[in-house]
Amino acid sequence: MRKLMVAGNWKMNKTNSEAVEFVSALIPELKEIQQIDRVIFPPFVAIPALSKLLEGTSIGLGAQNMHWKESGAYTGEVSSKMLKEFCDYVIIGHSERRKYFGETDEIVNWKLKAALAQNLIPIMCVGETLEENEAGETIEVITRQVTGGLNGLAPEEMNTVIIAYEPVWAIGTGKTATPEVANEIHGNVIRPIIREMFGGEVAENLRILYGGSVKPSNAYELFRQKDIDGGLVGGASLKVAEFVKIAAAARELAE
Ligand code: PEP
Repeated sequence: MRKLMVAGNWKMNKTNSEAVEFVSALIPELKEIQQIDRVIFPPFVAIPALSKLLEGTSIGLGAQNMHWKESGAYTGEVSSKMLKEFCDYVIIGHSERRKYFGETDEIVNWKLKAALAQNLIPIMCVGETLEENEAGETIEVITRQVTGGLNGLAPEEMNTVIIAYEPVWAIGTGKTATPEVANEIHGNVIRPIIREMFGGEVAENLRILYGGSVKPSNAYELFRQKDIDGGLVGGASLKVAEFVKIAAAARELAE
């Protein structure tokens, strides 16, 4: 059985003080929802304060990005070694990083290896754009992103990796892939690629989250699908009540 996860990607939202206020309200609300993994991904500058605030809770903390080098002359960047002092997770290859910051599958692969070297748990994002989807290239794109991103990893390392399927046309648009379509990509595209690369056991144990306009009204139906192991939530993770409802939908399925 794969443990469900609900992860909140805040993107470039909330100052440090707003983040502290938000998480102070979130902690008691999530206290009763222990059956699933809950993780938040605030901006870098809020990570140290939230790391303190979350001490003693089972809510996970992560970063939205990192550099692949441990240290050096890379102005403005943050390394996995720096993150590891404060948190356990990192998002890698989000479509906004790919689109606005030129991240390629090769860069995603370097970052993934650097994250694993520091024992960070990476959530690697993959997903096709609207144009690619309409051109019938979804499977080709996902295959390229998954094989490129995971290239050279050992099967043991894959036990730590989480993948998020996030069709770019569904991110922040209010459009959601239907639960059936998302499940199809998870179960009949991504998992078979993993099986081919790393074997059946790794494929079976891999958690594949869905992302793209997940909200309280669609979370249960999405998470109910056999190959959807939770959600990476953007917009709806910025409101305590919505994020808690999404986590509660996952809890219903974990019970
Ligand atoms: C995301 O950016 O990871 C995301 C899924 O955003 P939203 O939930 O707002 O579509």
